[in-house]
Amino acid sequence: MAHHYFARMHVAVAPKCNINCNYCNIKYDCVSESRPGVVSKVLTPQEAYAKVRSTLASLPQLTVVGIAGPGDPLANPQETFETFGLLSEGLPELQLCLSTNGLQLPDYSEAIVRHRIAHVTVTVNAVDPQIGAEIYRAVFFRGKAYRGRDAAELLLHNQLEGIRQIAERGVKVKVNSVLIPGVNDSHLIKVTEAVKAAGAFSHNIMPLILSPGSVYEKEGRKEPAPSLTLQVQARSEAVIPVMRHCRQCRSDAVGLIGDDLGVKTENAPAREY
Ligand code: SF4
Repeated sequence: MAHHYFARMHVAVAPKCNINCNYCNIKYDCVSESRPGVVSKVLTPQEAYAKVRSTLASLPQLTVVGIAGPGDPLANPQETFETFGLLSEGLPELQLCLSTNGLQLPDYSEAIVRHRIAHVTVTVNAVDPQIGAEIYRAVFFRGKAYRGRDAAELLLHNQLEGIRQIAERGVKVKVNSVLIPGVNDSHLIKVTEAVKAAGAFSHNIMPLILSPGSVYEKEGRKEPAPSLTLQVQARSEAVIPVMRHCRQCRSDAVGLIGDDLGVKTENAPAREY
């Protein structure tokens, strides 16, 4: 299959995060894009660029390079855009991508377009602030901390506004959602509808994987049964293409796209964009 001929790589240059998700333990990679309990070594933009160059020498199929953490790339704008600048100047043949919680997407939509970032993945777990308040503990924005419903309202507004702004400018937007039983399982169809209306082309619904030490783990919450995940995915699939084969991988993963066996991957199973 064609997708076996392409490879992608994440470079971990973004350590800080600007929100607190109840399923996350910030000591580990961003759960939105990674496997809990895994810590990526943070690189400087120069180290990341050198790593991409050397990977390209041994993996010529490398076509996509992204920044996905270990925190939120847009909470580390200097490191993130310096890395993208080095890559687009030195290796213009590569496609660039970014994963974010979306809080600062409207602030950086211009920079994303300017750096020719082709794909952006935004993690949107709710579009109702009441439900969002059960998922997010705090949001830190322009020097101020927000909690509860206010935090969720601000985050959810910026996510949809940011998706709209970049989708209008031709960036392909995929949305990730973490399926949290009893919190957003019956609500994710609303997320699908809202992100489709905002311009997203695909929705990837991932089962909650409890991060060790997270609020949800301490509360004794359960990960969803596979049957629930399939049911929720099927509901959304009637509205927008849903990705079912996504493997959650870490923020410094390297591998062939669609490589289900994990062969030839350095760190983790591959994930498609
Ligand atoms: Fe953790 Fe990612 Fe949520 Fe930030 S956005 S709190 S790194 S899961």
